[in-house]
Amino acid sequence: MPEIHHTDLLVVGAGPAGYTAAIYAARASLKPILVTGMQPGGQLTITTDVENYPGFATPVQGPWLMEQMRTQAEHVGTRLIYDLIVHADLKNGPGPDGYFHLTGDSGDEFRARTVVIATGAQAKWLGLESEKRLQRGGVSACATCDGFFYRGKTVAVVGGGNTAVEEALYLTHHADRVHLIHRRDHLRAERILQERLFSNPKIEVHWNQAVEEVLGSGDPEVVCGVELKDTLTGATSRLAIDGLFIAIGHTPNAGPFRKEVACDEDGYILTESSGTATSVKGVFAAGDIQDRIFRQAVTAAGTGCMAALEAERYLSGIPAMTKT
Ligand SMILES: Cc1cc2nc3c(=O)[nH]c(=O)nc-3n(C[C@H](O)[C@H](O)[C@H](O)COP(=O)(O)OP(=O)(O)OC[C@H]3O[C@@H](n4cnc5c(N)ncnc54)[C@H](O)[C@@H]3O)c2cc1C
Repeated sequence: MPEIHHTDLLVVGAGPAGYTAAIYAARASLKPILVTGMQPGGQLTITTDVENYPGFATPVQGPWLMEQMRTQAEHVGTRLIYDLIVHADLKNGPGPDGYFHLTGDSGDEFRARTVVIATGAQAKWLGLESEKRLQRGGVSACATCDGFFYRGKTVAVVGGGNTAVEEALYLTHHADRVHLIHRRDHLRAERILQERLFSNPKIEVHWNQAVEEVLGSGDPEVVCGVELKDTLTGATSRLAIDGLFIAIGHTPNAGPFRKEVACDEDGYILTESSGTATSVKGVFAAGDIQDRIFRQAVTAAGTGCMAALEAERYLSGIPAMTKT
């Protein structure tokens, strides 16, 4: 039997942004409800070592870190509901009852005086079975997160846009050799980035090449190479590498919110430059769903904190925070 849940603050999403928003909201006595979606814990649940989240002297496991955040959020008074928001009425503001109305896949209704959207984003993958199998063994979608583990090694980046070029350049700070694999004969990246790429002696570009297979070896299995196919001739070849970075873009999980709050052309929610307010008063967005630049757990947590503080001020009738 579907239920109706009322709350001062509804958090949608159970990643670092959502859990942090919930922790701050609960500690402000807003009795938040957090709807987890299909991936409780978010993106960090599919990774192993996390070495750049402050507070831990040695690497921690992504799933463990997210368990800690969940436990903390519940400990301070967050109610977790395992459901997926499939419908949201936000764009016209709260209804006559003072609540935004959202619906879960279960049929449950969520009535919230404020909403924090923290639904994150998904890295785009090539779609190979071997790529998925080796995601805990050297296939990554984030050079900032994992580049450090490849000091003195050889890595490859797949893609041809700004992100791919930036990731390749970043990886040269760690790896001895960086291969950029692109399926066309030109890059989409901005010219200045291309110039930096072409002038970097550590980087070799492989034109008209598509990754057919990620090769692994050992137990536990780790990446040892890639099989490439020439997109013009069909000829195949192998490249020995220690790590593979897929940089072909991200898809923001805007789903039911895309037409409810202002988004950019790719579906990232637009927020005010100084905070997390969206185009709808009382609705805030935090984490990767509104961030196409940094995409880190710590920045997601930071904006989750901001969203809860801004929601609290909104509920108290205090004007939005301004810089002094
Ligand atoms: C393989 C990998 C390794 C990474 N390693 C690091 C690292 O070492 N350090 C680092 O700082 N960052 C790392 N990152 C990046 C980091 O994971 C993200 O920046 C961070 O998780 C973003 O947090 P978020 O809360 O915005 O969203 P996410 O973590 O993406 O969580 C989104 C949440 O929203 C939920 N959701 C989505 N749609 C709905 C809906 N309709 N209804 C309800 N819930 C919904 C999902 O179930 C999920 O719980 C890594 C990312 C990947 C993919």
